[in-house]
Amino acid sequence: MQSEHERRAYLRAMGIDVWVPRDQVDDEPAPVETETQAGPGEMGWDALRAAVAACERCTLHESRTQTVFGVGNPDADWMIIGEAPGAEEDRRGEPFVGRAGKLLDEMLLAVGQGRNSVFIANILKCRPPNNRDPSQDEAAACRPYLERQIALVQPGIILAVGRVAAQQLLQTDAPVGRLRGKVHQLGATPLVVTYHPAYLLRSPSQKRKSWHDLCMAASIMAGGTA
Ligand code: SF4
Repeated sequence: MQSEHERRAYLRAMGIDVWVPRDQVDDEPAPVETETQAGPGEMGWDALRAAVAACERCTLHESRTQTVFGVGNPDADWMIIGEAPGAEEDRRGEPFVGRAGKLLDEMLLAVGQGRNSVFIANILKCRPPNNRDPSQDEAAACRPYLERQIALVQPGIILAVGRVAAQQLLQTDAPVGRLRGKVHQLGATPLVVTYHPAYLLRSPSQKRKSWHDLCMAASIMAGGTA
């Protein structure tokens, strides 16, 4: 658990000067299901990871350097879902690296969550060429993997980061500005939408809104009503 001092330091790093909520909770970790064969809907972690690494369900397998499965705590309370790997992620095999990843880390640390305590995944496991948006076909082809990851993690809260993740998860074309600031449901799991850190780097004036989104998510995890 962070000290108040540390939390404020992370907020300062984000360029946000606000009061920090003290509430943090240690919910009981959800059980991890055992591994089976068959489709993603029944796989355990090892089989799922292997299936993604070998996947050719869409044409993105032709141009990827490697798949980007996801990273973090398989029993996480918080699940962070972004769009798709970029060039650096494709090279390193890890989601949210580089400047945007660093900002995401700072945002999460500000609410007491380290990169290793959450689980971070993307809508797509392979990089779209030139960082274009995922197509509907690609998102649909990759969705069973993400759904299985969510089922295995059983998070208490999902944070959809950025327009593509929010629109794909909620199956809407509404802009992030309309989707953030409220609590959605993905099945039984509460879902909060916030801006992508790459966008926040370009538009730092929006950081305060993102901070409110994270506070709302933290409040839900603390048993509040946001
Ligand atoms: S993006 Fe998803 S569905 Fe497409 S090849 Fe990669 S892992 Fe398979």
